[in-house]
Amino acid sequence: MLPSASCPVCESPSRPYDVVDLNKSCEEQRGKFLPLAGVPIYYYLCQSCGFCFAPEFSSWPLEEFESKIYNDAYITVDPDYLENRPRDNAQLLTQLFGVSRTSIRHLDYGGGNGLLSKLLVDSGWESSSYDPFVDRQVQINDLGKFDLISAFEVFEHVPTPSRLIGDLASLIKDDGLVIFTTLISEGNIDPAKRLSWWYASPRNGHVSLYTANSLALLGAKKGFQYASFSNLPDLLHVYFRNIPHWAQSVAGGK
Ligand SMILES: [Zn+2]
Repeated sequence: MLPSASCPVCESPSRPYDVVDLNKSCEEQRGKFLPLAGVPIYYYLCQSCGFCFAPEFSSWPLEEFESKIYNDAYITVDPDYLENRPRDNAQLLTQLFGVSRTSIRHLDYGGGNGLLSKLLVDSGWESSSYDPFVDRQVQINDLGKFDLISAFEVFEHVPTPSRLIGDLASLIKDDGLVIFTTLISEGNIDPAKRLSWWYASPRNGHVSLYTANSLALLGAKKGFQYASFSNLPDLLHVYFRNIPHWAQSVAGGK
């Protein structure tokens, strides 16, 4: 019998839900399968907010993620992460907020090697990158406060949601905006069925899978309101306390 667990988002009882091999990767949706690792990864499901998580990873030190997930072979399971995704996301931020780029401070949270931020700086933004995995010597209190924080493909990688929301809350100005992507699980995780969703892939480090409700509850812990973009409601989201004046046009479009 597996032990029960408490939901890292809402603290409600969560039951063992399903098990997949550590080598299950997002590339399986393209027909590419890695050999089985022989390491079972159990996912739990919160019976209240629907958050789905793999408790195994909350005890891993960064070094273990480095050797087992974010190693030299990671590029084979996430071929877009080095170049294409930072370029696409820089374009998205420019399209949404580019006219205000000289009057706002931007932080790319979980920005890996910092390419997105470099691209923005090259086009006149005041932007920096912080990645808890890469910038281990940096104290976030030394970074200051930001008007705009982006966190693209970050939430699903973080085993401790309370730390993530705590970081974002301490880095954002009161009238700032956090824009982030994570694919929400509604329609993809059914408690009455097995976990077959392609996004639930431990080899990609996808250890935390959110419902819209669990994202709203997580943000509320730090006084954030939660909303999603009407054109990409399953993927593109924001947290804010007060909509900043430079983001009013975007807010109107949601
Ligand atoms: Zn929950």
